[in-house]
This record gives sequence, structure tokens and C-alpha cells, in this order.
Amino acid sequence: EERLSRRVRTIRPSATMSVDSKTKQLIAKGQPVINMSVGEPDFQTPVPAAFAGIRAITNGQTRYTEAAGMLALRKAIAHKLQAENGLHYAPEQIVVSNGAKHTLYNIFVTILDEGDEVVLPAPYWTSYPEQIRVAGGKPVVIECGPETGFKLTPEQLAAAITPRTKAVLLNSPCNPTGSVYHEDELKALGEVLRQHDVYVVLDEIYERLVYGVKHVSLVAACPDLYDRTLVVNGFSKAFAMTGWRLGYVAAPLDLAKAMASFQSHSTGSPATMSQIAGETALAHFEPGVIDVFRRRRDALVAGLNSLEGVRCLVPEGAFYAFPDVRGVLGRRYEGQTIESSADYCELLLEHALVASVPGEAFGAPGYVRFSYAVRDEDVIEAVNRMRDFHAKLT
Ligand code: PLP
Repeated sequence: EERLSRRVRTIRPSATMSVDSKTKQLIAKGQPVINMSVGEPDFQTPVPAAFAGIRAITNGQTRYTEAAGMLALRKAIAHKLQAENGLHYAPEQIVVSNGAKHTLYNIFVTILDEGDEVVLPAPYWTSYPEQIRVAGGKPVVIECGPETGFKLTPEQLAAAITPRTKAVLLNSPCNPTGSVYHEDELKALGEVLRQHDVYVVLDEIYERLVYGVKHVSLVAACPDLYDRTLVVNGFSKAFAMTGWRLGYVAAPLDLAKAMASFQSHSTGSPATMSQIAGETALAHFEPGVIDVFRRRRDALVAGLNSLEGVRCLVPEGAFYAFPDVRGVLGRRYEGQTIESSADYCELLLEHALVASVPGEAFGAPGYVRFSYAVRDEDVIEAVNRMRDFHAKLT
């Protein structure tokens, strides 16, 4: 007899797990691992936001809030969406949750019935397919390669949509590729989307982290799709607030109400002090981080491209580089054959002390994700270690 529900049995073990546990073991043994597997900024939460959170606690703002989040925060988010994204949402259309990850799960539960398909461009963020499956849906993975900058084309989208398609998911800037959809590309996708009755889920959590290009929301480029679009965002990446757990969605009113109701019975309101800190954070984005990330990106991508068998596009956003390492498959390191990008990552960790995540975790075997949310000197040192590692390949 099965002890676990069918729903939970659909969850696949994460491909990041073995690198992650090995990294921790090595660090525990005192090895100077450079951890480029992380998905969080290495900056501090803006000080005014941190103090707002502390003050909330000492002032006794430690009770439940409305399940959808405090009105003051939802008003501030509505203002931000108008001012920065050109999107009009009333506070009632915004639901705040415990991180964008939680927001996405609420969305899938709210819009998917058993067997509904979600078009999911790969490389994708590792939690999407698992969340879709747990909510009863079926991820329909569309492979997007380097020839289109890892971006979904209108032709691919049109071919992927079936009568069972309930939603299309777009993540721009993208984790793991760093790809950013440009306005003309969004308009072309919009042409296809408006011919079908499907929801559009936009994960825009990296919107602030773009280098020399502009982030545009698909619903700003195609305002007629407003009634079926859900815009997801959060505080983790822009404000270095990963541990505060705060994310949100802006959606058509009926969907927002349904999500708020679901949340009221599942997790209840997000942490009150986090909400108060988040409201302050919205006014304290530190634009200097963009220059820092851009500098590290340039150093890392140039370094990766100097390695034989490694090819890396220049990502336009987020804080990841996503090189193609298929050129090293079949090569050997100290007698061990590199048969997959997962093998490459394991060897790199063990022998170069650089932790990365294999593309297998993102539906893109043959690639590797390196986070450059690490110190500048660590980017340089990581590249040096990889160069030594490559020099020993036979
Ligand atoms: N979406 C993407 C693409 C991400 O990379 C992440 C975090 O890694 C999230 C959503 C979730 O972020 P959080 O739950 O911290 O808001």
C-alpha cells in the first residue's frame, strides 16, 4: 500500500540535490568552495526596510493581517506597478504571499484542473514543472535553444497550444538563462496568445536586474491580454530579501479573490513584519547593484568563453550565466569520463572547488548554471580554477 499521495509521488528528486549536499560537505570540511550554485543576491536587505521590520516587531505589529496582505502594502505595490511597469491594478487585485514561489503555487492551484496543460519553455526554473504537476496539471515542455537566445518563438508557441492548454508560462528575465524578452518579441507572442483562450503567467521576479536592455511586461506590450494575465513578482531578488519570504501577484479581480480565499485557508497572511519591511523596501531599490552584477557577468562570461569546449551567450538579465558544455562531454579528468553536464558539475566541484548547477535541473542537459551573485574576486578565482581544471582534461 502506498503511504504517499499520488500528488506528492509526482514530485521528482531535484537534480540540484547532489551538488548541494556535496557542496555543504566540502564546506563543512573546511574546503574553500566558491558557491556559484546559489539563487540569491549576496547584498544586504536595504537598511531602512530592515529597520521597518524591526520596528514592526517592537511596536507590536505582530498579529495576523488580511489574508491577501495588508492594504497599505497592496496599495504600494499597485503604485509601483503603475509607476514602473505602466500597469493599472487596484489593491484588491493584488495578493501577497510567502515568496513568489508560494504565489506561483497558489496560481496553479487556482487555474488548473486535472490534466490541464501548461506550456513551459525550457530551460525553465526548476520548481515550475513540479508545482504544475502537484496542482494536477501537465507541463508541456518546449525546448528553446541558444539559436533564439533560449527564447520561445511565436511558431513554437502556436505549435504547442492544444485544446487542453490552460496556461502559458513566461519567465523574463529568465532563471537559468538570463534571457530577456524584448518588446517586439512579446508583441509577436501576444499575436499568438490572443487567438487562444489561455491564461498567461508572467514571472517577472528578476525585472530590475537587466543590463542595457529594458524589462517590458507582456501585458504592457499587449494590453488587450489583461483579463487573462497574472503578473508575478517578489522582493527576494531586487531587494535581497530571500529570507523574509515575500512575493505577490497582480491579477484579474476574480482570480485574485479566488487566490486570496485559497490562501486564507492554507497559509493565511504572510508574516506581518515582512510585509511592513517590504513596503519600505519598494522605495529603496539600490540601482548600484546593476553595475556590480553587470561587471561580474562580463568577467564570468568572458572567462567561460575562454575555456575550451565551453560556449556562453551574454545574458541580458538576472544573475546567471548558462554556458553550453557539450564540448567537454566525452573528455576525461583523471581517468573519469565526463558523460553529462551533471558529471561535469560534480568533477568541477570536487577538483576545482567551484559549485554550479547542472542543466538537467532546468530541463536543459548539456548546460550548466553559474550564479554570479558572489564577490568579484570569487568570479575571477572561479574562472582561474576552471582554467586549471580544463588544462587537465584529456
Ligand atoms: N521565480 C524564479 C524564476 C526564481 O528564480 C525564484 C527564486 O529562485 C522564484 C520565482 C521564487 O522566489 P521567492 O519565493 O524567494 O520569492
